[in-house]
Amino acid sequence: MFYPTVYSKENDQRHIVKDKNICECGFKYNGFSTFIMRDFKKIQFKHVKEITCPKCKSVLKQ
Ligand SMILES: [Zn+2]
Repeated sequence: MFYPTVYSKENDQRHIVKDKNICECGFKYNGFSTFIMRDFKKIQFKHVKEITCPKCKSVLKQ
């Protein structure tokens, strides 16, 4: 399975995107209220094995 993910430089983790602002674990990858084309570039489709955020991974198991 592949998921839309974003990489967080702050804690060196890859998260699963929940919506246009936040990840499954609550990490806010988009600090702006408007969603612009540049933000799409942050999102990469990755295999589930490449997701390193434990909280995002636990959401997948449910
Ligand atoms: Zn996460």
